[in-house]
Amino acid sequence: MSEKTILVWFRKDLRIHDNEILIEASRKADFIIPLYCFDERQFQLTRFNTLKTGSFRAQFLIESVADLKKSMKDLGGDLLIAKGKPEEIIPYLVEKYKVSEVYHHREVASEETIISEKVETELWKQKINLKHFIGHTLYNKEDLPFPIKDIPDIFTTFRKKIERESAVKPCFDKVQIINLPKDFETSEVPALIDLGFTEVLHKDTRAVMDYKGGETAGKCRLQSYFWKTDRLKNYKITRNGLIGADYSSKFSAWLSLGCLSPRGIYWEIKKYEKERIANESTYWLYIELLWRDYFRFMFKKHGSKFFLKNGFKVSPPEECENQLELFEKWKTGQTGVPFIDANMREVNASGYMSNRGRQNVASFLVKDLKVNWLLGAAYFEEKLIDYCPSSNWGNWAYVAGVGNDPRDNRYFNVMKQAKEYDPQGEYVRLWVPELSRIPGVKVHEPWNILVHQLEEYQVRLGVNYPFPITQLEYSNK
Ligand SMILES: Cc1cc2nc3c(=O)[nH]c(=O)nc-3n(C[C@H](O)[C@H](O)[C@H](O)COP(=O)(O)OP(=O)(O)OC[C@H]3O[C@@H](n4cnc5c(N)ncnc54)[C@H](O)[C@@H]3O)c2cc1C
Repeated sequence: MSEKTILVWFRKDLRIHDNEILIEASRKADFIIPLYCFDERQFQLTRFNTLKTGSFRAQFLIESVADLKKSMKDLGGDLLIAKGKPEEIIPYLVEKYKVSEVYHHREVASEETIISEKVETELWKQKINLKHFIGHTLYNKEDLPFPIKDIPDIFTTFRKKIERESAVKPCFDKVQIINLPKDFETSEVPALIDLGFTEVLHKDTRAVMDYKGGETAGKCRLQSYFWKTDRLKNYKITRNGLIGADYSSKFSAWLSLGCLSPRGIYWEIKKYEKERIANESTYWLYIELLWRDYFRFMFKKHGSKFFLKNGFKVSPPEECENQLELFEKWKTGQTGVPFIDANMREVNASGYMSNRGRQNVASFLVKDLKVNWLLGAAYFEEKLIDYCPSSNWGNWAYVAGVGNDPRDNRYFNVMKQAKEYDPQGEYVRLWVPELSRIPGVKVHEPWNILVHQLEEYQVRLGVNYPFPITQLEYSNK
């Protein structure tokens, strides 16, 4: 009987634990070709003149692929790293290694599904099957109590029904050995420069943490957040924080490349509940993971609607005439509104911004500045280390009021939020050094400080820090 070879095409599932395609391929085949493609389309400019992948995420991706390659080697295998289009590389490898099947985890956003369709078409010409698996969510679509087309558009309805009627499956066993064909090609992990990045990446000491890509680092973070520092037990109380590593899990970057499995996190929460404590915080982390599932399922249900300016509504939010000028100031953290500038400078310098920050800067851009929300979402796509199409565009559409959720006024009162979540102004002073001498909560409204006092703080509005680009009032709205 002839030997069977399966090609495992890694995409956003860069892990060996809880990885169905790897375990399935190792059971069914004599040899495995593990492959990752650095596709140039991932690094191009968008129609908004932003990059599809910025340098922080590119570096995180490189580290994640390197870690996967190392894990594969530890199992007796290797990872073939190619640069180019999967629809060209995969058929070539299929021919070369006499591959009989190709496995991958299915994506939900349009650009990614178009690529797998192209791969499928090319493979079909060789009479080879591309087998699709689902591995990015807590629940697989067959675990849901409704077909995709009937998934409730309101998160609370979705959550309640799932909690009542669905169960999270156990994780898949870890693969024990990877058998490569004899003539397996050697390949190198690229450096940033090979992907077209010429700048040197600076790590900012103010960043929430020193992110390192890969399953090993992701598991280490989980171990630390749950078991070493025991922060999970206070998650619900601390999750709206702004400074430091431990106010929230910081799992997002590892989740978005699949270095951590959501199911794996779920079962670790259950273990923690058994061995330490089960409380509102442990439950709340599960709810946040469910939000992630929800946006993915919404993408599956509604397709590309989340990328349209008017989304699910008849018309888009109002826009102003000088929006490109305002957008530039928002991007660079020069709006003159300290809380917004602090958040934008944080994401520019580190690739991360808290959830509270994201909600505020998004609402400010769309509702206060009246700038096209697609520009903001595309900018996040470039900058975020944890960018994930469904979570990003889903959340932006939601804040912009054009999402599938029927409520459309999600206005965040920036001044109220700033004072509530940064009551001593520490976060603003950290990221906006021009204002670092202004004590306490006053730092949120330099325009309300008398000029001679501002001079004492070495601040000259319009000279070393901008006047606010829009009038903002503190109100209890
Ligand atoms: C405008 C906007 C854009 C966003 N873009 C992204 C994005 O590109 N990628 C991304 O992973 N998250 C995105 N989020 C959601 C959220 O801000 C981040 O997941 C979270 O801040 C990451 O930090 P954490 O891992 O410490 O989160 P935690 O608070 O510890 O939450 C645990 C996990 O739950 C998931 N999660 C939490 N909140 C949300 C949410 N609102 N929507 C979807 N999943 C959630 C994430 O996977 C997160 O890692 C966005 C939110 C907004 C408002």
